[in-house]
Amino acid sequence: MMNKKVAQIFTEIADLLELKGVDFKPRAYRKAARKIGSMKDDIRDYYEEGDLRDIEGIGKAMEAKIDEIIETGSLEYLEDLKEELPAGLIDVMRVPDIGPKSAKKLYEELDIVDLDSLREEAEAGNIRELKGFGVKTQEKILKGIEMLEHISGRHLLNEVIPVAEELIEHLEPEAERIEKAGSLRRWKETIGDIDILASGDAEKLMDAFAEHEDVDEVLVKGETKTSVRLKAGVQADLRVVDEESFGAALQYFTGAKEHNVPLRQIAIDKGYKLNEYGLFNKGNDEKVAGETEEGIYEKLGLKWIPPELRENRGELEAAKDDRLPYLIGWEEVKGDLQAHSDWSDGHNTVLEMGEEAQRKGYEYIALTDHSQGLSVAGGLTREDIMDREKEIEEVNEELEINVLSGIEVDIKKDGTLDMDDETLKELDIVLGAVHSNFKMDEKKQTERIKTAFETGLIDIFAHPTGRKIGEREGYHVDIIEIIESAKENDVILEINASPQRLDLDSLNAREAKEKGVMISLGTDAHGLNHLDYMRYGIATARRAWLGSEDVVNTRSYHELLKSLGGE
Ligand SMILES: [Zn+2]
Repeated sequence: MMNKKVAQIFTEIADLLELKGVDFKPRAYRKAARKIGSMKDDIRDYYEEGDLRDIEGIGKAMEAKIDEIIETGSLEYLEDLKEELPAGLIDVMRVPDIGPKSAKKLYEELDIVDLDSLREEAEAGNIRELKGFGVKTQEKILKGIEMLEHISGRHLLNEVIPVAEELIEHLEPEAERIEKAGSLRRWKETIGDIDILASGDAEKLMDAFAEHEDVDEVLVKGETKTSVRLKAGVQADLRVVDEESFGAALQYFTGAKEHNVPLRQIAIDKGYKLNEYGLFNKGNDEKVAGETEEGIYEKLGLKWIPPELRENRGELEAAKDDRLPYLIGWEEVKGDLQAHSDWSDGHNTVLEMGEEAQRKGYEYIALTDHSQGLSVAGGLTREDIMDREKEIEEVNEELEINVLSGIEVDIKKDGTLDMDDETLKELDIVLGAVHSNFKMDEKKQTERIKTAFETGLIDIFAHPTGRKIGEREGYHVDIIEIIESAKENDVILEINASPQRLDLDSLNAREAKEKGVMISLGTDAHGLNHLDYMRYGIATARRAWLGSEDVVNTRSYHELLKSLGGE
């Protein structure tokens, strides 16, 4: 938690310094924030040992700031910076296409200090009058505000899932039954608030919940429901229900509404009434099910439906005909197929990444460092790859698992690849990816990617749409055409498990499966703790109706090599 806090404060400092037009320093803070945010070890351990400056990029000044944050929970330097500029300008910078320089200009020339004033000026047509902005930019700004509002109040999975699990663990001793509910249980890609459902001693449960150390403020505390705001900025609700109604309440509060509305109709058609207390005979109000979800679905003539599928995307029909998919299990992934080492922009060595993968019980991990074109990410030349190869070989001698020598090769504007064919053929695994020229029109962008597929050199197409949740929409591409081309050219499509990407999303991944395209799961880890993101990828695969047979990295090492066209 402290790592995250320090990283957040450093990022804010970087943003504010950039707004002020300071050179160099913002980059240093951003780099340190990334490093600290992705470290596996608790920064407090370094602090206690007096070793903070052993961390790459941390000098004397930053060390003092980290000391202050750990000791006092805040940082005066940041508060001072904030006073010099309106705080809402930080939100303005979160709008795609508005960097610090534009934000500064909007502030100075139009007095824009937050999202509201930004929207007003854009709607009034004043932004297009500014030098360097124009009509298109003004339209994009309005779209960007809309996107931010759509995500606002929602949280990425990694911000919510671990907190929710910790709360549940804390409540478990007091509960008969306890489960996640709502979008959290469905593993939706963003989460509004944390819903927890329990049965047991209500008073004890409510007390334990309200007194948890992560709670910032108790909003409501009642007999059956308590709502709190957590220090992480998320609201959490605990509902306590009777044992006999637990299944009905769980079904009801899990949603989605789109699933529950037609389900209630099925109940009505069969002469029942379904609500959060149970399933009742319409005539005499006799309760026929409610203790378990399975019991309710069964009475309605349906197989139990995994929560990830409850979106009204055909699951009710499939449950009726007993043809629900057998979803990929949480423990079936045998290795991570996208990770970066310190050879490019990752924070850990080949050995450290390999060891962590081994600890996770994997059989393999692919190190897919960037290619040279991505110089901001320390991309690798052929020579670097040869040198890294030696290190990988040594590590493979030492470890019981296999580190695959891979690359995330940049697909250039014309669809050619940012590495010579010979080198690509020698590597164990080649990921292709688009990291530049996002603004090409859809037709050209689609052609670019298809041209890359047709080289026959790409095993996996990474983060296929380039979106970042709450940050940018991704490039314009005809995803159906890409899926078809992947099928033709034997390219595997990635579900990037990084919670900000989850790309392909569940709808597109399902489309890929239906067209017979294999999927690979990769965390895109740039540090050891990012390897934990695999579960978000698995969740997305489950939401996409995928089974283990659809996911290439459920295969053993030797089977995987075969699928990659190796030995
Ligand atoms: Zn990438």
